[in-house]
Amino acid sequence: MNVLSVTSECVPLIKTGGLADVAGALPKALAPLGIDMRTLLPAYQAIAQTEGEVVMRFDDLMGGAAELRQCQVAEHTVYLLVAPHLYQRGGGPYVDEFGHDYHDNAERFAALCQVAAYIARDGINGSWTPDVMHCHDWQAGLTPLYCKLHDCTQPSILTIHNMAFQGVFDPSVMEPLGLPAWVYSADHIEYYGKISTLKAAMVFADKITTVSPTYAQELADPHFGMGLEGVIQKRAADVLGILNGIDTDTWDPETEAYPYGRTTLKRKATAKAALAKEFELDGTGPIAIVVSRLSQQKGLDLLLDALPDYLDQGGELALLGSGDPALEHTFRELRNRYPGKVGVEIGYNEGLSHRMFAGGDMVLIPSRFEPCGLTQLYGLRYGTLPVVSRTGGLADTVIHANHAALNANVATGFVCNANSASALSGVLNHALALYQTPKRWQALQRNAMKQSVDWSVSASAYAALYQSLIE
Ligand code: ADP
Repeated sequence: MNVLSVTSECVPLIKTGGLADVAGALPKALAPLGIDMRTLLPAYQAIAQTEGEVVMRFDDLMGGAAELRQCQVAEHTVYLLVAPHLYQRGGGPYVDEFGHDYHDNAERFAALCQVAAYIARDGINGSWTPDVMHCHDWQAGLTPLYCKLHDCTQPSILTIHNMAFQGVFDPSVMEPLGLPAWVYSADHIEYYGKISTLKAAMVFADKITTVSPTYAQELADPHFGMGLEGVIQKRAADVLGILNGIDTDTWDPETEAYPYGRTTLKRKATAKAALAKEFELDGTGPIAIVVSRLSQQKGLDLLLDALPDYLDQGGELALLGSGDPALEHTFRELRNRYPGKVGVEIGYNEGLSHRMFAGGDMVLIPSRFEPCGLTQLYGLRYGTLPVVSRTGGLADTVIHANHAALNANVATGFVCNANSASALSGVLNHALALYQTPKRWQALQRNAMKQSVDWSVSASAYAALYQSLIE
């Protein structure tokens, strides 16, 4: 079976968040199941040099010439959409050097979706035609609609990685995007006087998946649905939560800079000592790590309020992240106030994030909402116990160390019930208390490391979904 994955990010080429990890890992996980998943991705400036063979040409794609280049990235076939007038720019995939959305994001990603529909309609050189279209988030959101407008018969799936990003644009873009007037209605893509490309996919895709079962349920609630809960409720029969996995070859304690036993934890202490040195921490208490975008979603403002209590009891913190300038500033200040106890690195650094998971004792994820979350899965894999909020995929993957779970020896971390600094403080105190008894802490680590976090179960779930659609 052939599946075309339409996405704006994909590791190892381009990444701003979890979407890239998922888009990069799925083709590899699906291959053993007989599914040839190929990926359509914009050729942003940073990856425009990737070599490959031109397989389609377009004289005018949203105002300029473009071509589709077939590239091989390890085992993975990627179609890069080379359209310099849309993608050849400094800045990131969505924003310029100053953090402002590109003024033509509607055109930039509609072009991607149009080309997805051309691939569905015409195939690639007559040799490869998708059986199923799998699109990710608002950037790929117009794919199912363009497929319908081009009379393509392939079924389509939308995966929502984060409902907070909805691809909202002024209706004046409809004409340049080639969208017919009839879709501007509340039943289709109209959204409070604007249009939403995420809504377009929610309406026109055959199935909607999201990245955890709990988030699939939460989306029907206005607090999480963020204006689109009504569409989710209407499509309830077609909504499905499939948990993300992680690439366990990339994330493997045995292949880190300071490697340690995958299940025995032998030599994890060496990785911790190296981490303490790198962040200039004392390394005498537990080291909690944070690897995160610094945004309202991630609840790090709540953490800031809970931290003094934790630090005063001997806890330590190593944070790697970037985003909200106010949060960046406050964490830097905290580092100055607590030398030896708090280490902060502002920026994006994949290599450092690996060393942090290897050396940390806990990973903190106090998110207000979290569709799936990947860092708690890395934490489980590395015996770096997750401290999380009870929401979305965090709730689905971490078993709280309460009395019953400790007695049954199934606990894998710490789950906070309320989104408040005091609740988080309570959970951190509980973790600190358990940390004092190494035998109990290690039992938790072993449970965590035993948990399956790879793609095997979820890849089968996607495969079954594709199969059900083409039967
Ligand atoms: P989201 O997609 O909402 O940002 P996820 O937990 O799903 O959250 O995925 C985030 C991904 O980005 C993880 O792979 C995480 O390790 C990585 N990441 C986030 N911030 C950084 C950073 N500053 N440096 C390195 N990796 C980071």
